[in-house]
Amino acid sequence: MPTFQTLDELDLQGKIVLVRADLNVPMKDGHVTDNTRLVRFLPTLVALQEKEAKIVILSHFGRPKGKRNEDFSLRPVVSVLNDLVGKPIAFAEDCVGEAAQKAVQKLQAGQILVLENTRFHPEEEANDPTFAKEIAALGDAFINDAFSAAHRAHATTASLADLLPAAAGKLMQEELEALGNALEHPQKPLGAIIGGAKISTKLDLLHNLIKKVDLLVLGGGMANTFLAAQGFDVGKSLFEPEMVGTTKTINSEAEALKCKILLPKDVVIASELKEGAETQIVAVDAVPKDSMILDIGPQSIAETRMHLAPCCTIIWNGPLGVFETPPFDRGTNEIAQAVADLTKESGALSVAGGGDTLAALAHAGVAKELSYISTAGGAFLEWLEGKTLPGIAALEKAANRARTS
Ligand code: AMP
Repeated sequence: MPTFQTLDELDLQGKIVLVRADLNVPMKDGHVTDNTRLVRFLPTLVALQEKEAKIVILSHFGRPKGKRNEDFSLRPVVSVLNDLVGKPIAFAEDCVGEAAQKAVQKLQAGQILVLENTRFHPEEEANDPTFAKEIAALGDAFINDAFSAAHRAHATTASLADLLPAAAGKLMQEELEALGNALEHPQKPLGAIIGGAKISTKLDLLHNLIKKVDLLVLGGGMANTFLAAQGFDVGKSLFEPEMVGTTKTINSEAEALKCKILLPKDVVIASELKEGAETQIVAVDAVPKDSMILDIGPQSIAETRMHLAPCCTIIWNGPLGVFETPPFDRGTNEIAQAVADLTKESGALSVAGGGDTLAALAHAGVAKELSYISTAGGAFLEWLEGKTLPGIAALEKAANRARTS
């Protein structure tokens, strides 16, 4: 049973509802380049409009470092959201003070107002209680729909839930349920595919996963350090010598926990990283000194497919090669297709997340074919690490408060 309340459990009929969203979408030259996060947020807006709530959206945008800076204004995002909603959305120049208060007072039932970037105030990231109280005074209830910001203990991601009746929005609920089904109470066997550049950034994640998964497929730059620890020469490949000891510990812990770690047996190498570079496929014990490992090889792809086949649940973070530079995208593309096929044909639950992973899956053309793709980067990783996310903890506290009152 979820330990947080959902939007439908609160009485929001006609109320002023403060909604923490993540409107931090990619932008270039003042234009939104990917509206996925906005589209995924729409069900919450629709549900609140059905309840004739007056909707006040709070969000950060970029890193303005606690100062007003027009480059980080939410105004361009509002016009895109406007088009998606199909009705005019109001905008206030500040998230506190007179501008915010006046704009909230003008709201009609079902209308939406976006307040300017919460990070224009240093108090947001400092999780300042007075600032949180000032924002809380604008509304009657708080809906947190920003899973992707839930790893931050900021005023609008955490403290607001202490000050108002609080619940998860539709996207937050969807994220928590999908991630819970994948890692907390998964159908077994459970496999994880972890790639990306460095082990040092994913150590906590690996330690947590070996406790939970039956199979851990490792690829990308981080696999090189595991290979080096087994005595293989990885040439000029990305490699973290200071992490060799750690990989040995992870290996022995995994063995004791009966988690199978699958490393590449063959790799794609080149002497330089450039598109269309001349490549060679070699066994991991035959990497020349002047070469770099830039992708997993065909035997590794086949072996990964075979080991993933019986999995009922698959979690994925991190590309298996330098997917941005073809032909080093092949391993990631083929495994992405294999995961999509297992999802469709065997009914496996597949969940992916984390910045580059989404780009890699989109590049492989399977972004819509997995069971669930998280909108979160850092929060997804911290959740995989088994950490308590402050935004979620605050919602749980609010739910306990509601149950005991
Ligand atoms: P991360 O943010 O840790 O998931 O790392 C993603 C990055 O890892 C991508 O930009 C990939 O190009 C990179 N990557 C994947 N495989 C390799 C490799 N074998 N060598 C160097 N970088 C890699």
